[in-house]
Amino acid sequence: VRSIPDWLRGRAIHHPDHPALVAPEGTWTYRELYDAACEYAASLRILGVTEGDRVAVIAKTGVKYALMMHAIMQLNAVVVPLNWRLTGIELAKQVEDAEVAILLFDEGGATLARDVLQHVQPRYGGRAFESIERTTERVERSDIELTHMHAIIYTSGTTGVAKGAVITYQNHWWGAMASAMQLGLTPADRWLVPMPLFHVGGMAVLIRSLIYGTTVVIHNGFDVSAVNEALDSGDITMVSVVPTMLQRLIEHRRAGYPPALRCVLLGGSAAPKSLVARALALGIPVNQSYGMTETNTQATTLQSADALRKVGSSGKPLANMRVRIATPDGFTDEAGVEGEIVVQGPTVISGYWKRPDANAKSFRDGWFYTGDIGVFDEEGFLYVLDRRADLIVSGGENIYPAEVESVLVQYEGVREAAVVGQSDPTWGQVPVAFVVKASEVEMTELALANHCRQLLAGYKVPKAFYFVDELPRNASGKLLRRILKERLQ
Ligand code: AMP
Ligand code: MG
Ligand code: MG
Repeated sequence: VRSIPDWLRGRAIHHPDHPALVAPEGTWTYRELYDAACEYAASLRILGVTEGDRVAVIAKTGVKYALMMHAIMQLNAVVVPLNWRLTGIELAKQVEDAEVAILLFDEGGATLARDVLQHVQPRYGGRAFESIERTTERVERSDIELTHMHAIIYTSGTTGVAKGAVITYQNHWWGAMASAMQLGLTPADRWLVPMPLFHVGGMAVLIRSLIYGTTVVIHNGFDVSAVNEALDSGDITMVSVVPTMLQRLIEHRRAGYPPALRCVLLGGSAAPKSLVARALALGIPVNQSYGMTETNTQATTLQSADALRKVGSSGKPLANMRVRIATPDGFTDEAGVEGEIVVQGPTVISGYWKRPDANAKSFRDGWFYTGDIGVFDEEGFLYVLDRRADLIVSGGENIYPAEVESVLVQYEGVREAAVVGQSDPTWGQVPVAFVVKASEVEMTELALANHCRQLLAGYKVPKAFYFVDELPRNASGKLLRRILKERLQ
């Protein structure tokens, strides 16, 4: 089978009155969602957008984002969800790389979009969400070709240059199947997505709910009391959160949630054991998962049944997924052997967009090298030990030291710079910089911070700058980040 009937059309025909999308603005049934998607698709078609075109979006979340996503799918165009926390210059590079046909943005993304458009001009320019209205025309897609691209999601590389992960319809289909097998599925499921839709974790839930014919609930951003209220109402069966969100949700709680909430899917980064333990003590059904953009979310997930006795583990591979540990002596599944986690399966992307160099490095002999270090226990539960030595994950966002360092050394008088992650109770990690300045040069922390702020997303700006005489290096001149990290303790 190479093609299957369109997911949304199928649902609109067979379950027209089932709620598809719930947002603060209202509820869309599958019939209504299909109509809206086809009419917005016609609107985009009038602007020039056609099959295969890349459509970039700057928005956090929201119902219009979801509707645009469905419209883009009806056109069989490719969505390029941009991370609104990056700078205009950073995003312009992605827009250029993806050869974007049109840039869409919501009200909150307007300033950033204007900034992007100063550096790059998509073929059909930029358009505010509000300017895209429903028409009397309809564009309805034909069947879904499983190998067609659905999205290009940019994720930073170890070199600091963002790479576009190409997500196909097939990746979504298998992801939906595997997730249902791991977490269960009921027709009454209502999956709350309080996180941004531009991350794979948010986008995948939207598509999975569509494939299942269940309901996705969208909030306009993450608001602790709004999420707690939704979960307490007993209306939500599943919710996706990153550890920082879960921490804020349960900070002041003495009780869990109604039993209707059957799964709290925790992903995006490692969760502190204490957080998982506290959530479990409150009776919250936490499912810790391990995954990444390149695996279209979960590669392994810990089921609630095992959660208590395996706190700290990211669980077992999802159906059809192979997970192994690469060591200098080859791959192994042996308990207690640490090494790089490698994965293979139908949710894994086939490669990055136009990046033969990165593909050759990360995709070898049918396996994707995650760059994460892990170990299995005797029962085959995976523990993710650490990320690639130098990656900093702050509040779920990746920060690559090399990128920040390259900005720092652009500042006049900076000779060398090294950026490492410092543990932080709120963000997991925050970047801090060690700077070697040329002698006789006057330089303040504030000036360096301002310089970084002009060129980098806020979360990438080091939270502290330490002026040092030299950076620790080994005999071959390689920077010893480990020693810098030790100095922070
Ligand atoms: P991204 O590419 O932004 O989706 O981030 C994926 C990265 O987040 C992975 O490669 C890991 O380094 C990290 N990560 C995700 N889940 C976990 C987990 N359960 N434990 C530890 N690290 C994780
Ligand atoms: Mg990544
Ligand atoms: Mg992440």
